[in-house]
Amino acid sequence: MDVSSIISPLNDAQRLAVSAPMQAMLVLAGAGSGKTRVLVHRIAWHLKINHIAPHNILAVTFTNKAASEMRHRVEELLNISARSMWIGTFHGLAHRLLRQHAKQAKLPETFQVMDSDDQLRIIKRLLKSLNIDDTKWPPKQVQGFINGQKEEGIRARHMSDNGDFYYRQMWQVYKAYEELCDRSGLVDFAELLLRAHELLRDNEDLLSFYRDRFQQVHVDEFQDTNTIQYAWLRLLTEGNNNLFVVGDDDQSIYGWRGAKIENIFNFQKHYPDHQVVRLEQNYRSSGHILKAANHLIAHNDSRMGKELWTDAGDGLPLSLYAAFNEQDEAYFVVEKIRQWVKDGGLRSDIAILYRSNAQSRQFEERLMTTATPYRVYGGLRFFERMEIKNALAYLRLSANPHDDASFERIVNTPTRGIGAKTLDDMRILARDNAVSLWQASLTLLQENRLPPRASSALQAFLNLINKLSQETANHEALFESVKYVIEASGLIELYKKEKQDKGETRVENLEELVNAAKLFDYDSNNPENLSELDLFLTHAALEAGEMQGDADEDCVQLMTLHSAKGLEFKVVFMVGVEEGLFPSQQSFEDPGRLQEERRLCYVGITRAMQQLTISYAESRRLYGKDSYPRPSRFIKEIPAEAIQEIRIRANVTRPVASTPSYNSGPASKSRYKLGQAVRHEKFGDGVVLQTEGDGEQERVQINFRNAGIKWLMLAYAKLDLI
Ligand code: ATP
Ligand code: MG
Repeated sequence: MDVSSIISPLNDAQRLAVSAPMQAMLVLAGAGSGKTRVLVHRIAWHLKINHIAPHNILAVTFTNKAASEMRHRVEELLNISARSMWIGTFHGLAHRLLRQHAKQAKLPETFQVMDSDDQLRIIKRLLKSLNIDDTKWPPKQVQGFINGQKEEGIRARHMSDNGDFYYRQMWQVYKAYEELCDRSGLVDFAELLLRAHELLRDNEDLLSFYRDRFQQVHVDEFQDTNTIQYAWLRLLTEGNNNLFVVGDDDQSIYGWRGAKIENIFNFQKHYPDHQVVRLEQNYRSSGHILKAANHLIAHNDSRMGKELWTDAGDGLPLSLYAAFNEQDEAYFVVEKIRQWVKDGGLRSDIAILYRSNAQSRQFEERLMTTATPYRVYGGLRFFERMEIKNALAYLRLSANPHDDASFERIVNTPTRGIGAKTLDDMRILARDNAVSLWQASLTLLQENRLPPRASSALQAFLNLINKLSQETANHEALFESVKYVIEASGLIELYKKEKQDKGETRVENLEELVNAAKLFDYDSNNPENLSELDLFLTHAALEAGEMQGDADEDCVQLMTLHSAKGLEFKVVFMVGVEEGLFPSQQSFEDPGRLQEERRLCYVGITRAMQQLTISYAESRRLYGKDSYPRPSRFIKEIPAEAIQEIRIRANVTRPVASTPSYNSGPASKSRYKLGQAVRHEKFGDGVVLQTEGDGEQERVQINFRNAGIKWLMLAYAKLDLI
């Protein structure tokens, strides 16, 4: 291997950072300036030039996709296997630590990770058992409170009564929740981080072992670390001065989830011998795109301030499309995608980015009807589907019978005659004796406290779980256990009986789960030899969207703006750029949040390399409600010369803000107004988008439901108004 490949593809500032002596380092730079590239090359530098062994390297990022990308890039650069490096997300690495040191972390070996959905269920149940009215104390709010405390490193025992009624009630629930989780061996996402921090903080030997081990610690997207993540990094590195962080204050987008931009200042305080490197050249986007991003973000105050430049030339201006409604928006975007592919482009070069997961449906439908392969990240993830969660709950319970969340989920799914009364008895017994539901069931059975029918139903359930856990221990390959579970649990049978497509899809998904267990790459996810079942179950709790679409297929990428952070695409569609959606309604009142929305928009714009299209709809149906939103203020913050409006509406004037009627301009004599529904004998039904010319020359552009967008000469086209 030629060592010069570590340095030669870098500019001077990047080289400075990559080849710096071992010391704390902050690379503070805007989007697309090569921060992640610097981080990867820095790791390669350590391995090759400083002769640090791969297992002495720790690197943290925020998504699994980014982590595997990073590992991949290092391997490619050096032509080595980087398997023994600790590269992962904060949650993934915390989990790994807890598994390996479960006892010292005061967790049962069989502990299970629950996702936020499971957490919410547990909280609902807890409120019920504490007789707390969940209309007055919404479970989501309780969840937010608990996670917020954990993100700050605060346990219930650290809190004290401050006389505030709201606070006291939340505190009590938090306390009960902690007890319940401990008893059930359940760990939520925030708990992973907090406990991994406590593990190192409270075990001196362990801490010094890991401090010696991780000679260099690297963090990407540092601006989005929260209090506990930063505290964890400090534990590992303080004194050794070996923390290398890269970030961009303008891309901090997780303040609402506890991320602290201040960590950038804290870093500078806590590591006095640090060096700061700034990068200013952008290598990702063409000039117009960069200009748009620079102008937009300049509207925020208290920035650390940096300007990006490129020598790539202006490139194409941004396109702006005012859609009639959300369907028209999807039609338009998918039409442009088809054009790109027709011209020889790859689908995987394209991303559709939206503010809210609920927006994906329109695009999915349109992509589906046009048979365009796509992949959705996030949203209702594969592992979050009901049938999959049910199957996983069987697996979880067979791994850890005290997992109350799983117990609740499947004790009567499929129905097996365990009624509400029996369940209540169980819950009360469990609560009063501070034991798991499993333990409570055993007691009820042993003491003969149930009527005969309930008793035999419950016994059958416990037998089934015992049998499953034997089977999973016996099977060589995990997928065989999964196969066994979906059959023996009766789930397959249950869904086969379900009517129509839904049941069929659920059965297919269950079969896909077997497949997922088969294809899961245990090796590269498992440098420390954990059990396959544990690995797979954790993967299911932590992984986002990995299962959708065939990984090898050339797919259009759909995701929220949040999950696009750090990624890049040749062609980007930023959709639904409307007041109330983006920026979100909730941010209107709060200048801090509004600025965070603007940073999110900056993230969105800077994902694009060559083409960026921004769209908004003049009427939108979302969450079952109709609205007539105004275009987002962010659009006005982009300089006019960098943006080109696509729709030339000769005869149609844009409706005045928030009026649902579409008035024709004064010059219009046409019968065809914007939004007019028409029928064509060949193309079917559609709506009018715009008209042009008059008399013999009059042309009309129509968005046909099935045939897409077409221009027609009115003199020839046979159109009926409908
Ligand atoms: P973000 O803030 O969005 O995470 P980033 O600062 O991490 O961006 P990278 O993803 O590392 O930026 O780099 C952006 C693009 O520029 C990548 O395609 C990368 O390969 C390319 N790039 C970075 N540095 C150089 C360079 N010196 N020469 C050529 N290309 C480069
Ligand atoms: Mg990056």
